[in-house]
Amino acid sequence: MMKKIFLISLLALLLVAGTAGASHSWGKYHWDISTDDSIASPLELGDNLTSLAWDNSLAGGSSDWNLSVLRNQVVAGASNANCDPTSGRVEVCNGEYGNNGWLGVASIWVKRGRSGHIVQGVVMVNDTYFNTSPYDTQAWRNLVMCQEVGHTFGLGHQDEDFSNANLGTCMDYTNDPDGTLFGQLDNQHPNQHDLDMMTEIYAHLNSTDSGSGPGKGNGKGNGGGKGKPSLAGANIDLNDPSSWGQAIKQDAQGNNSLFQRDLENGQVLITHVIWAN
Ligand SMILES: [Zn+2]
Ligand SMILES: [Zn+2]
Repeated sequence: MMKKIFLISLLALLLVAGTAGASHSWGKYHWDISTDDSIASPLELGDNLTSLAWDNSLAGGSSDWNLSVLRNQVVAGASNANCDPTSGRVEVCNGEYGNNGWLGVASIWVKRGRSGHIVQGVVMVNDTYFNTSPYDTQAWRNLVMCQEVGHTFGLGHQDEDFSNANLGTCMDYTNDPDGTLFGQLDNQHPNQHDLDMMTEIYAHLNSTDSGSGPGKGNGKGNGGGKGKPSLAGANIDLNDPSSWGQAIKQDAQGNNSLFQRDLENGQVLITHVIWAN
């Protein structure tokens, strides 16, 4: 009898764990880019970074995420000090944004409606913290950069508790980014689960049962054209928390970690925030 109850509890636990794993993407937000399209024309990550340490983090994150179905490439940044977005790509910026509590922010502008298509993305990392202990390490930079870039592809976190064991992915909060402090898994890179989630999120763009072949071209159609600043984001200061909109999720510490704001142009601004602690 006890054994049976134990087995049922175990099964229930496994089911819960399985469900939690599968709901890792927080929405079905994604770029309207198939793998073939992204091989021909990789999603651009604009490098507006001002230090070699950050350049290295972005280069590492870029090549890590290139194991996924969505190919990317680092290109020269097209942004400004405000880290304004550019339609059709991701802009990545660093700066001393102040003692405002956040280590990193990743925002995506998504078309309102069912498509969930991402129009543009921005990553900002806060040197006010990364210039000081404990964050002034390559491992911390790698963790946060990898995570924020993952958000701009449509991924959520796998875990939001800083003090539990590392899952071995940059999409997991930690106080020990490379795992050397407590002898645990390295959280500087995506893991297979992240890559699997990417495959799932982008599956409909890569399906072969819809008469694919040459000329499938689903046209990126995000309007605005590449390289032109988007008016939609030009007056949004992501360093100002009030511009993030409404909090829709909290991390394990009870801090708001996900925000949503409806914009007048028919887009929705989604912002992930990782806090210093
Ligand atoms: Zn789609
Ligand atoms: Zn995050």
